[in-house]
Amino acid sequence: MQNPLRKITGVFIFIAILPIVFVIYELGILNKNEEIVRETYQNQLDAILYSVNQYSDDIISSWANRIRMEPQVPPDSSTRYRSRLREILNQTDVVRFVYFSDLRGNSELHSLTDDESPAELKAAMDAVVEKEKERILKLIEYEEAGFRKMDAIDFTITGNTIPIIFVQRKTGQGFGIGAMFIDLPEFIRQNLAPKMQAISGGKFVISALRTGTDSLVYTTATPDLSPTSGTRGNVQPYKSDTQRKDFWILPGYYLAISLQGATVDDLVKTRTTTSLVILVLLVVVLSAGIIFLYRNIRREIYLSQAKSEFVSNVSHEIRTPLSLIGMFAETLESGRATTEEKKKEYYSIIHKETVRLSRIVNRILNFSQLEANRKQFRFVPLQLNDLCREILETYFSHLKEKGFDFEFEPATNLGAIQGDREAISEAIINLLDNAMKYSAESKRIIVSTGRDLDFRYVEVKDEGIGIAKKHHQEIFEQFYRAPSGDVHTTKGSGLGLALVKKIMDAHHGQVTVDSTPGKGSAFRLKFPIQKNEKS
Ligand code: ADP
Repeated sequence: MQNPLRKITGVFIFIAILPIVFVIYELGILNKNEEIVRETYQNQLDAILYSVNQYSDDIISSWANRIRMEPQVPPDSSTRYRSRLREILNQTDVVRFVYFSDLRGNSELHSLTDDESPAELKAAMDAVVEKEKERILKLIEYEEAGFRKMDAIDFTITGNTIPIIFVQRKTGQGFGIGAMFIDLPEFIRQNLAPKMQAISGGKFVISALRTGTDSLVYTTATPDLSPTSGTRGNVQPYKSDTQRKDFWILPGYYLAISLQGATVDDLVKTRTTTSLVILVLLVVVLSAGIIFLYRNIRREIYLSQAKSEFVSNVSHEIRTPLSLIGMFAETLESGRATTEEKKKEYYSIIHKETVRLSRIVNRILNFSQLEANRKQFRFVPLQLNDLCREILETYFSHLKEKGFDFEFEPATNLGAIQGDREAISEAIINLLDNAMKYSAESKRIIVSTGRDLDFRYVEVKDEGIGIAKKHHQEIFEQFYRAPSGDVHTTKGSGLGLALVKKIMDAHHGQVTVDSTPGKGSAFRLKFPIQKNEKS
């Protein structure tokens, strides 16, 4: 018994340690996980800004590509040329002027919004082209290497409208440059806003702002969702996790993105808390399962050990009366018992031992019948007081013989119960047997009957060795014998109380124990009082 239990305990401790180690490990890496999640979020936000940037580049370069195909010098009237340019730019009024230069002193400036293209603007642009030669040469270098690049030029004359230059390549004429004067805030509002709105999908707040002043050009935030506190320049929610990126192509403007509502930190915290709760729940469930399993296995091991003890106990119990019967029968048969008195004594011993033997056998048979639910009960009205008296009459001499001081305290007006006479007698006898078996110096047994609100009961009380509280439940299990004091010298099968419990279950009643080690025990058989009887 000890060995398998020790082994199993070892295995269970190991199994129990695993989740604990797992939790400690998980707690250890929780911070790291948090960091990874935060980083993932930031990367995602970054990627979104990247896509907005890419999109604005794509629009402008597609415009540049269309214009690149057009002749630099208008073939006919500038009005018709303007409408042609407007047409290829999809009628956009975000592009205010288009400028061309062959980099050899010839240039053109076309206004796309009014008839006159201001001469001073063209001159200023010529000057810029002259000044930014280096940058233009860089662009041409890229173009020669097969990369189409664009560049924005610092230009203050036209306010928010900034020229974006690109390389023009004309067969036989070398490289020239083109420039589109784009109204940047308008470009953001008209061309980027729908894309920003679509990407944000209600989950993010994406905004375009002016560098330096941080004034808002456009935001996807709905007004009631952008908190006024914690904002800069009455702009958008500047939360702790707001990610910013300059526009690649639009000088003086930048993009900002944050989560709508919660911050990344909030999200990470919520996630962490959820994981933690799940983790703890997991450990609780796992531990409960392990404890449950462990208890069950321990019980099974105990039962299997108890069963083998039961066999040896029962054999022992049967052997004693059998050898006594055998011995006295043989004495009688051989005629060695000379006096009538002796013969009578021997007959009585044989009779007593036969009764004892049949009780043992009956108990085992009854138990196995009850166990297999094969026992048929015959419920009849029974007076508990009468039943107790009958039993005690038969038992009286036996009790006296063993030196017991004995009392019966019947309750008055007890009323009848519905029960199986034989089964209930058997239960009471079992309790009496135990009271005798487990009494030491103080040999006193009190049998009483009574009733309380819900039950009529029979109580068998002794002043014997008592039972420790922790065994109060187990003693009703089959084969269980409380490991106290000299119990192993007392004969028993561990079936008596299990049998009593089964009988009481069949009567919808209960068997309860009230016991203190060293002071004694009181067992009660409680029979329910029917509802209609109570009222
Ligand atoms: P057993 O054949 O061992 O008496 P029972 O099922 O009748 O089997 O009882 C189970 C265990 O309960 C006993 O082994 C004993 O430890 C304890 N027990 C039962 N009745 C008493 C009692 N009156 N006083 C003390 N211990 C008792």
